[in-house]
Formats: sequence, C-alpha cells, structure tokens
Amino acid sequence: MTQTTVSATSTSNADLFSSQLEKSNRKKTEHSLLTDASKRLEQALKHLSMSEDAIERLRHPKTSLTVSIPVRMDNGSLQVFQGYRVRYDDTRGPGKGGVRYHPNVTLDEVQSLAFWMTFKCALLDLPFGGAKGGITVNPKELSKAELERLSRGYVDAIADFIGPDVDIPAPDVYTNATIMGWMMDQYSIIKRQLSRAVVTGKPLTLGGSEGRNTATATGAFYVIQATLPKFSQKPHNTTVAVQGFGNAGSILAELLFKAGYKVVAVSDSKGGIYTPQGLDIPSIREYKNSSRSIKAVYCEDTVCSIVEHQVISNAELLALDVDVLIPAALENQITAENANDVKAKFIYEVANGPIASAADAILAEKGIYVFPDILVNAGGVTVSYFEWVQNRNGWYWTLEEVNQRLKVRMEAETEKTWSIAQKLGIDVRTAAYVHGLNRLGEALDAKGTRNYYNNPV
Ligand code: GLU
Repeated sequence: MTQTTVSATSTSNADLFSSQLEKSNRKKTEHSLLTDASKRLEQALKHLSMSEDAIERLRHPKTSLTVSIPVRMDNGSLQVFQGYRVRYDDTRGPGKGGVRYHPNVTLDEVQSLAFWMTFKCALLDLPFGGAKGGITVNPKELSKAELERLSRGYVDAIADFIGPDVDIPAPDVYTNATIMGWMMDQYSIIKRQLSRAVVTGKPLTLGGSEGRNTATATGAFYVIQATLPKFSQKPHNTTVAVQGFGNAGSILAELLFKAGYKVVAVSDSKGGIYTPQGLDIPSIREYKNSSRSIKAVYCEDTVCSIVEHQVISNAELLALDVDVLIPAALENQITAENANDVKAKFIYEVANGPIASAADAILAEKGIYVFPDILVNAGGVTVSYFEWVQNRNGWYWTLEEVNQRLKVRMEAETEKTWSIAQKLGIDVRTAAYVHGLNRLGEALDAKGTRNYYNNPV
C-alpha cells in the first residue's frame, strides 16, 4: 500500500505542512533551526503527494529527552551539564545519529539534527530512523578524566532511552572513537551484558568497523566523483576550498588532493590558509596532528618548511573564486547575508546544515549547484550501519569490503537523487528530500492511513 508517488504539481500537502508547522512553531523563536530545517521539507512536499497522516507524523520530533549530568571535576567541585537525546522518527527502524559536544548545543539544534538524520537514513535506505544527541560543553576545557566522567554520566542519564534496537548513538562534532568506547562500556555495565551494537564509531578493538573513521569523507568523495563528471569537470582543473579541518574536512581534502584536485584553501575554527597554486594537504594534516593548528607547510620526511600563502578568515574562504566549495564545519555558515559573495560553481555540504534555507534561492539564482548534507555526508551513518550489522553478526569485514559496499550505496543513491532532480526539474537538495520522503511516506502509510480505515473494503 503505497500512498507516496512522485508528482510535479501537487502543492496542497506543502501548504498543509507549512500551516501546521506554523501552528506548532508559534511559540518557538523566529530563528529556530528546526523551523528552518523544515522549510526544505515544505519545498519537497510540493513535488510529491503524501498522505496527510504521514505529514502529520513528520511534523513533530517523536521524543525529546533533556537531562542534567552532574560531573565531579578534577578540582573537587561538582559541575552540572545539560544533555539531550532526540528521536525524531523511528518508523523505518531504531533511531540513529551522533552525539555532539559543543558550547552552543541546544535542544532546538539537536532536534533539527535529528530531523536531518531521519531523511539521511531514509535517503540511503538504511533501516534506521533519525536521532541525535548533544551536551552543552566546551570539551577543550575538560581534562581527559573529566571528559570520561561526563560521557559515562550522559549514558547513565539516557540509558533507558537508547539500545541496539531502540536508538544508537555515534560520533559527531567533537566526539570520537574513544568517547564512543566509554559510552558502549558504560551501557554494558548498566545492562550487565556486553552490548556492542548500542553505539557505533567505536575503536576497532572494541567492535568498531574498519573504515568508520574515514567514512564521512570517503562517502563525500564518492558523491563528488559521481557528480562532477556530469558537468565535464575534471580533477586536474578543479580548484577546491574546504572550510573545517576536523575528521571529515581534513580526510576529504587529502582524498581530493590524492585524486589530483587542486585544494587551494583550508581552514579551522581559528582561520584559514590560501594559495592559488594548491596546498600540500598530507603535510598540512601531519602538521595539524602534531601541533593542533593549521600551517601552510610542505614536509619531506619530518622536515617541514612554510610555503608562500595568504592567511584568510573563514568568511573569506567562503567567498573564494574556486570551482568547489566544501563547508565541513558547523551549521549556518552561508546565510542570506553572505550567499551573494559565494563564487564557487559547486557546493558540497559535508557539515550538517551549513547553508541556511534563506540562502537557497540566492545560490540558485547565481547558478550554483548545491549537493546537500543528507546525501554528501551520509557515508558516516552508512558505515555506522555496517558496524551495527557486524556487531550483531559477530562477523567482521575488511576495509576493502567496507569501502566497496559504501561506494555502491553512495553511488546508487546519488544517481537516484540526480535522476529525480532531472525528471522533476528541481534542485538536488529538494530531490534528495523527495527521495527520502518517498521511502518514509511508504513506511508511515504501511501502518494504515485515514483512507484505509475510512474505506469499508
Ligand atoms: N554524526 C554523523 C552524522 O551526522 C554520523 C551519525 C551516525 O553514524 O549515526 O551523520
């Protein structure tokens, strides 16, 4: 019983959604991230027909949990941190999504991130719903022991809310494999049984998957490699700027560099470097690993020397005259205020939500192709799915097997998204939502629609 079909004309569902959303958001601030995220959904609903029941369900996050986490600090004092875990929708399977440690984490942000995860998992056809978690904290100010107590305290607080068949956390901004290992261990202590599949992104030796650490970047690389040829854009004459030099941004920059792209600019939270001749990304990564900062270096063995470069701000990086711009840091980097400055021809969203919805029309007007987060950065959660499968089977795959399966899935869903965009004459972001919504709508409707119950036969 499928109520969801692609159509180019219907607007009534979109209107219905937006008026309902308006009602439900009346009390929220005007700048609510979730409200902004929902605008993409409204846009997609104009291009498919979906049952009213499914729309009604997708209007609200299913469950939002707010917790206080008391942590004994190294100096003997007690500090209480705010934590969140949101399950947006779990119709297609247990909730799935990362946990973010950042001083700006709010419930609104976690809800929108959980919303994106719902569409990301549907788009990649993973048997998961969307979830997300976060703690409002600057992890750089904590010692390693404090960070461990905070992570275990978070699991103590949300243990009844997660589980291998309920909701499965993973890494996100400023969380990593070590933290996932602590979380899995703490959950196993609480449940009094080893429960590896409760968390993904763990260290290899604790049941992590080969290729999980590089998965977001590798997945994005496959999307870039599958789409740029459609515009006859070849690596050797493609210049790239990458905003954000964390796990995803730095590994992707290196993959692109090795494939022959000219990566001319990179940045981290403190600022960036630019050289039109192209940067030596492996050297910069090596330097960043040992010094925690970005420098325009060229290294031979252990000897590094500074190369000619310009120091640029993050805002300047976004406005560089390059072919490909890759925002791989945080949300809301390109907004209505600076969208006009963007000169890139293609944007690949490696961060979640780096473009505010108000910038969409401005970028489209300028003829810039935007490949959206829910497709481009989906490699991370895809290999998380592989990790979960391996944990449940107790049968582990090689790096080649993981990357091959990732490649097949990323390329297939990229092609399906691209052909929806072509068929309906819509942008790639809207096509990605249409594709995910088709799968979600089908699952929601399989539980029964008002048509089904109102129809006597
Ligand atoms: N935090 C990543 C994301 O936003 C990965 C989530 C996961 O692996 O569950 O997609």
